[in-house]
Amino acid sequence: MNFNEKIRGFFANRNGMDHLGIFTFLIYGLLMFINVFVKENIIDIIIFILIFISLFRILSKNRLQRQKENAVFLTALNKFKNLFKSNKPKKIKIKKIKKVKVKNSKSIRKNGKVYLLKPCPICQNTLEVRKIKGERYVYCSKCKNEVLIKI
Ligand SMILES: [Zn+2]
Repeated sequence: MNFNEKIRGFFANRNGMDHLGIFTFLIYGLLMFINVFVKENIIDIIIFILIFISLFRILSKNRLQRQKENAVFLTALNKFKNLFKSNKPKKIKIKKIKKVKVKNSKSIRKNGKVYLLKPCPICQNTLEVRKIKGERYVYCSKCKNEVLIKI
């Protein structure tokens, strides 16, 4: 067995680097940077603990337990990300808007509501538009445009 094989054998079946490991390293780097200015012993101790934890996790052979920890971390990270996400739906990009004047178009009934069948002015896909007087934007699922329909 040569040196490379010994190294590979040593790392086989060990947890290695995962998301939580990368995160720990980022925090470690950030604390190192902060401590250049702050020079607090407590930060040195935290850095030491972080190094210990990340080495322990990288070299751990209990991969199932480490994967569980990583999953808990990823769930928490997603929850944290969602705090900053607005609940508004993404606005559809309008490439082209054409006004369509409705005249004698076919209508259908769905759940007691009347819909007019209008061709999309961009791709000619049939759009179902509620039969209510006025202008409104209708999303076309085929060409992904919002088109202004006048009834
Ligand atoms: Zn269309």
